[in-house]
This record gives sequence, C-alpha cells and structure tokens, in this order.
Amino acid sequence: MSGEIHLENIETPEGVSCFNCEACCCRLLVMLDDDDLARGVPYGLLEEDEWGGVVMRQDEEGWCAAVDRDTMLCSIHPRRPQVCRDFEEGSYQCREERALYGLVDAPLSTDAGAL
Ligand code: SF4
Ligand code: SF4
Repeated sequence: MSGEIHLENIETPEGVSCFNCEACCCRLLVMLDDDDLARGVPYGLLEEDEWGGVVMRQDEEGWCAAVDRDTMLCSIHPRRPQVCRDFEEGSYQCREERALYGLVDAPLSTDAGAL
C-alpha cells in the first residue's frame, strides 16, 4: 500500500544480527497452527496453553524449549513456526526485544517517530 513506511523493509541497522543477540526474541510466546505442526516441530518442545492452543514450551526463565543453550540459536530453524519466520531481524520489534535485554543498537524512539 502506498504511503506506508515499513521498518522491516529498511536496511538492517549495523550491528543487529541474530548471531550477536542471544536469542532475545525467543522468550516471546510462540503459538503454532496446523501448518506449523505439519512442518514437524518435535512434540517434546510443545505444550498446550490454557485455552487449548499449541505453543512452544518455555522454561522457567521464559526461553523457548528449542533454543540451543550453548549457541543461543534455534535448534529447529528449518522447521521453526511461521511466527518466528515473520519476526524479522533488524525490525523495530527485533530491536525492541534486544533493547529490553540490554542490547541497544539504535535509537528506537527516533525510529518510532518515523512511522
Ligand atoms: S530476530 Fe532480532 S531479537 Fe530475534 S534473535 Fe534475531 S536479532 Fe535477536
Ligand atoms: S522455535 Fe526457534 S526461532 Fe522460534 S522462538 Fe523457538 S528457538 Fe526461537
């Protein structure tokens, strides 16, 4: 749609990378749909939420059960749920999670004003 600015389409800010991040976004709740389940996410990594939906299991600190704690990368990357695929490296939401975790890469308030 013309006239809209999507931060996801702007060049990834320097220094923002999943490889220097420690999986900040992998503590967000991840819900799965039938397509995600058909992709073959191991059942042991899943659990049912209080409304009967299927979500990625989280540990007591909130980390997704699929996070490899040695590398802090996704251990099921080719089979990861769609919501994880849609969470774009360098997007506003990405940098917000990094900032919450203490990794400040860019002035988020300035970016928000550009919307
Ligand atoms: S998408 Fe962003 S928040 Fe998530 S792991 Fe990559 S750099 Fe970190
Ligand atoms: S499935 Fe992978 S990308 Fe998605 S939250 Fe879990 S570890 Fe992160």
